[in-house]
Amino acid sequence: MEEVKVGVFLSDCGKQLAEILDFKALTEHVKKVSGVALVVRGNEFWRGEGLKTIVDAIKSKKINRLVVAETLPKLSEVKIVKAAEEAGLNPYLVEVIDLKDHCAWPHRDAPLEATEKAKAMLSAAIERAKLLEPLEKLEFPAVKSVLVIGGGIAGMQAAEDLADLGFEVHLVEKAPFLGGLAARAGRFFPTDDCAICIQSPASDVKAITHTSRKCVYRSGFSEIPNLNILTNSKVVKVEGVPGNYKVTVEKKPRYVDESKCVRCDLCTTVCPVEVPDEYNAKLKTRKAIYINTPPVHPPVYVIDESACKFQECAKCVEICPTKAVKLNQKTEKLTLNVGGIIVATGFKEYDPSVIKEYHYGEYPDVITNLELARMIDGFGPTNGAIIKPSDRKPAKRIVFIQCVGSRDRRWNPWCSSICCMISLKNAMLIKSAYPDTDITICYIDIRTTGREHEYYYEKAREMGIKFVKGRPTEISHDPDGNILIVDVEDAILRRFFELEADLVVLATAMVPSEDTKELAEMLGIELDQDGFFKEYNAKLRPTETKIRGIYLCGGATFPKDAPTSSLHAHSAAVKTAKFLSTGKIIKDQRTAFVNEEYCGDCEFCPVICPFNAITLVPKGEDHFVAQVSDLKCEGCGICVGTCPVNAIELRHSRPNQMEAQMNALLSVNGTSKPLILAITCSECGHTAVDSSGMAMMQYPANVRVMKVPCTGILQVHQFLQAFKAGAQGVMVVGCKTDGCHYEVGSQKAQKKVDLAKVLLKEYGIEPERLEMFHMVFIEGDKFAEAAQMMTERIEKLGPLQLM
Ligand code: SF4
Ligand code: SF4
Repeated sequence: MEEVKVGVFLSDCGKQLAEILDFKALTEHVKKVSGVALVVRGNEFWRGEGLKTIVDAIKSKKINRLVVAETLPKLSEVKIVKAAEEAGLNPYLVEVIDLKDHCAWPHRDAPLEATEKAKAMLSAAIERAKLLEPLEKLEFPAVKSVLVIGGGIAGMQAAEDLADLGFEVHLVEKAPFLGGLAARAGRFFPTDDCAICIQSPASDVKAITHTSRKCVYRSGFSEIPNLNILTNSKVVKVEGVPGNYKVTVEKKPRYVDESKCVRCDLCTTVCPVEVPDEYNAKLKTRKAIYINTPPVHPPVYVIDESACKFQECAKCVEICPTKAVKLNQKTEKLTLNVGGIIVATGFKEYDPSVIKEYHYGEYPDVITNLELARMIDGFGPTNGAIIKPSDRKPAKRIVFIQCVGSRDRRWNPWCSSICCMISLKNAMLIKSAYPDTDITICYIDIRTTGREHEYYYEKAREMGIKFVKGRPTEISHDPDGNILIVDVEDAILRRFFELEADLVVLATAMVPSEDTKELAEMLGIELDQDGFFKEYNAKLRPTETKIRGIYLCGGATFPKDAPTSSLHAHSAAVKTAKFLSTGKIIKDQRTAFVNEEYCGDCEFCPVICPFNAITLVPKGEDHFVAQVSDLKCEGCGICVGTCPVNAIELRHSRPNQMEAQMNALLSVNGTSKPLILAITCSECGHTAVDSSGMAMMQYPANVRVMKVPCTGILQVHQFLQAFKAGAQGVMVVGCKTDGCHYEVGSQKAQKKVDLAKVLLKEYGIEPERLEMFHMVFIEGDKFAEAAQMMTERIEKLGPLQLM
């Protein structure tokens, strides 16, 4: 084996650090550590001459491990690792530590103690570096093809963006026509454009159509090259890995040949079956063979197989002049090979019939906003007339009820965010067309947060729409006049009212669309507490999921208005394009691997892995072993912390590397206080330590920090190992349990800390010597406070007595 030759480079940060740390003593200390071949003191080893010194040492002195103490480690590490790689050193053999924010700054009032701590930090980095192993960069092929699930505003927009960028796109919509909820919504706020127009992506296909950039009829959406639109189709199986998925799609029969139908409408004139038209809120009927009005895409008829009499009738077959009707069409199964997937399945209206006091489904004149939108639509079932469904007479008094089934813990606790604007829009459209209509909106709060939305609200008031602050308690029906009575308490006037209405419109909650749960399971992605698809990070990664290669957009993550859905779709498209653009996925090999000899096919790790990276594969007759996908593994180490027989390890964070680091950190005290080991995750925990240093917050130098990828990697025996190595107290510092970068790592670590406390007690060790802290990265003050508190606590407990 090649002799280990460590080169250590100490930056004194333009001599700033030298005012606190004794660099001479540090240099002498490092020189004595076995394996160190070179120690250089200087400044700025991450650029210019400093970086050149490192490169020369690698080339001329055959340095094969690198330890660099440099400021701004996150930035400098990138430059140093890159330069080292170019000089011929494997990039995984480099350790960069921060003597400024982790030592000099927080302990600047105790320079001697700070120097002793710096020695321990350097020793730990050297011992770890000596045990590091070279790793490879892995390359996986990525198919430049994308599946978009859901053909509403967001799905169409994302599909169009990607197709325009040159990707092959398959847009799969389970309904027979594209458009989603938007197609039924009539006009959209705040522009009052027709929904059909807005749902059309701004396709630059003027060359084809010479007309509109936004109207779906005229935009040429279906003519976009590389775009394969599959309506009446459902994704039923997804296999494979990011960059290379095999997707099975079930395409239900349309019973009409899309290439032959000329929309002559002769079929509907002979079809004898008439059923309520769901698309038009059952306010009219349609035939078993039908097309939505206005037609979106595809502009061809479809047969409703639950209503059609098929061969018993077959009148449409006879009359069709182009022989387009095919009653013997069968469900087809298609297999698509795609590199990325975008979920754009939207949301749906909550069924308010469960709210018994509003009698939806019982009183025909109690309708939802979406049903009202069909009436307002000039193409709709009443051609724009606002009627009472019970007797089809004009509705002259209309009461809207807001927050029906939302902001109510009995049904759905969330605010659906768009219903106030939908009600305002519908009320204003009615008032414009029929100024004499008496309209009252009963609300809890009116929420008009978007651009121009507040003006919209003001305009509604100017138009004479009335507002009552209060959630109605009951709707009753007076059969004498066929009117509805709405009981409401006005919270401002503190008065009970009875509002008479011809029509009551429920602004219902918006909830996840059907099949959301099933699809999430199929894709291995998460749902949030409300049942919508969960983003990887709601703040900065709103269109990503925890699985690279699977993205979200539009109402699939939460109800959104049209512009927001559209923006979301652009973002998802860009993320997907970025992921697939080179046709390959480059990943490092800091992944888990299984020692098959020890693996006892207990199935713990496949279940625990947040990224579905582990599968059990058969080994021998009735034995299975765990196998890790290097492509899917994110290197958290949670599986390592879970395996009961230590059969799984994480490259670059192997037990011997961690142990050597821990021993070295605890090998030098140099303070009068008890040594405390703070094990931090590499995300919020470690960055909180950075933050406390950057803000020059003080905490005692007896606290030694060891970074692990995620606290979920820790095992109970490692806490005991730390006590054995000299720690008097152990702090585990991880992300907040609901904000863990690896989803469950922080939770799992907390459980292990709790368990270890019980064991410590059994061994006669005070459990208070071990504690877990959860923080976000900016909470440097919280870290400094925790370090101070733990020091005082351990001082009070006195020296640890190990049996
Ligand atoms: S947890 Fe350990 S023993 Fe169980 S399947 Fe995974 S690697 Fe094998
Ligand atoms: S290291 Fe994390 S992502 Fe990788 S296999 Fe283990 S649990 Fe899964």
